[in-house]
Amino acid sequence: PGKKVLIVYAHQEPKSFNGSLLKIAVEELTKQGCSVGRTINNVLLNFPPASPQNDSSLLPTGHLHNPEAFNYAVETWEAYKRGGLSKDLVEEQKKVQEADLLIFQFPLFWFSMPAILKGWMDRVLVQGFAYDLTKANGGGLLQDKLCLFSFTTGGNQEMYSNEAFCGDIRYVLWPMQHGIMHFCGVKVLEPHICYAPEHVSEEKRKEMLTAWTQRLKTLWKEEPIDCSPDWYFK
Ligand code: FAD
Ligand code: ZN
Repeated sequence: PGKKVLIVYAHQEPKSFNGSLLKIAVEELTKQGCSVGRTINNVLLNFPPASPQNDSSLLPTGHLHNPEAFNYAVETWEAYKRGGLSKDLVEEQKKVQEADLLIFQFPLFWFSMPAILKGWMDRVLVQGFAYDLTKANGGGLLQDKLCLFSFTTGGNQEMYSNEAFCGDIRYVLWPMQHGIMHFCGVKVLEPHICYAPEHVSEEKRKEMLTAWTQRLKTLWKEEPIDCSPDWYFK
């Protein structure tokens, strides 16, 4: 109780399986007394996946640190320091800052997250806020937080084994869990994967939804994974 959860959700359709997983998380965590915020869909239009130079959602003042040559990392870092990021971004950063747990809920697209969610990562997790390269140990600034990647796939579980076409599902988790979240200092809980909800029976779908509810009930007792290369590739 009292824990703050931010669910970063990326799916267009509330009636989708992802929509059902989102609904369950909001209901169950609220029941536990957590304060649950969610984001992405309401700010979707302000988060186009690309990040062009003349992007008013990123740098509303149009002020550039170095107008001669655009460097995304430098410009966002400098804008962060002088309070020049757009209001939307500052709000997203505040939500992240306040959260004890970040849940990412999305369908797997091209062995990765949907571009809209990746765009959120690219924009919100700027240097100075999420990490600081001038600090030792990688400089992750989002300490004392947990994250959980909850996603659905088109392929079934057999396809995501080491010998099969897709390879181990952990390979696709490496960039997201380790490359982004661990890099930023966030501890990673076991992912939650619902395989092929479109292709299984209605009964199996209900089972998967019940399993999510059950997991959430004891979530706060879980230990983070040992997020090292071994977890992914051994
Ligand atoms: P939906 O189609 O919304 O849901 C599946 C079924 O569940 C529907 O029949 C729905 O009515 C039903 N349902 C919803 N709620 C409930 C409920 N409460 N109770 C019972 N039934 C319910 N897959 C891969 O494996 N690897 C990839 O690399 C990959 N790349 C992709 C790239 C793109 C661009 C796209 C579009 C898809 C890709 N996919 C990939 C497939 C994608 O991951 C799946 O289509 C997606 O994960 C399915 O989730 P959904 O929420 O959209 O399912
Ligand atoms: Zn890691």
